[in-house]
Parts: sequence; C-alpha cells; structure tokens
Amino acid sequence: MSRRIFFNPITGLFFRIKARPKRKAPVNAEVERLRAQAKEELPPRLAQLAAIHGFKYNKVFIKNNLSNWGSCSSLKNINLNLRLVTLPQELQDYVMLHELCHLKYLNHGPQFHALLESVCPGHRELARRMKEYRIK
Ligand SMILES: [Zn+2]
Repeated sequence: MSRRIFFNPITGLFFRIKARPKRKAPVNAEVERLRAQAKEELPPRLAQLAAIHGFKYNKVFIKNNLSNWGSCSSLKNINLNLRLVTLPQELQDYVMLHELCHLKYLNHGPQFHALLESVCPGHRELARRMKEYRIK
C-alpha cells in the first residue's frame, strides 16, 4: 500500500493518507482477444468518423486500462480502450466522437458540448447510457 504525505498549514502537522489502490488492468486471453478485435475494428471506424466530420488527429492507440474509455492528448493523439468493442456500436461511436471533439476543445465546456451535439445528436442521452457500462 502506498502512502502519501501531506502538510496541513493550519495545524502545522504532516499527515499521511493511504492512497486508493489503483485497479490494475488484467492481461489474459480474453483481454488479448479483445485487443486484437479492437485493433482491427476501432482505428478504421475512428478514421471514418474523422473523415465524415472533418477532424484531423495524429495517431490512435488501443489501450488496456480501467480508468477511461478513451482520451485525447494535446499532441492530438487519441487513445481508445480495447473494451470499447464490447459496447453497442452507437456508444462506441459516441466515445470516438467525444474524443475527436477534444481535438478542438480540451475541456468539457459549452463549446465542446455544442460541437459534440452537432456531430453526435442526442449525445447527452448516450453519455447517460454509458453509465450502465463499467470498465471491468
Ligand atoms: Zn471528455
């Protein structure tokens, strides 16, 4: 168990907090099967959605992690969770369009949501449905 040390400026005392253990993504035959499927299916679909809506990204990476379905870096690289292939197609598209919109806005502000709504109508309902799916 890792511990982090903090300083409380009011009491002048140091204190420790047990860090929440990070769930480690498993590597097993099922994950490798999903990884192969994801590498085959997700990059072409991302390229297709980007072409349709005029987004330009740098590279796409397929990731094995338990913390997010996708992410977008300031280098304009897009990371997609290999477990995306287990979701219904419209939710896969929602995640990919969400990350593509982060190429223009690296935040979740009103302009980001307006852009996402223009390329993915009803995106808030899709975001709500995503809550039914936990990364595991
Ligand atoms: Zn986001």
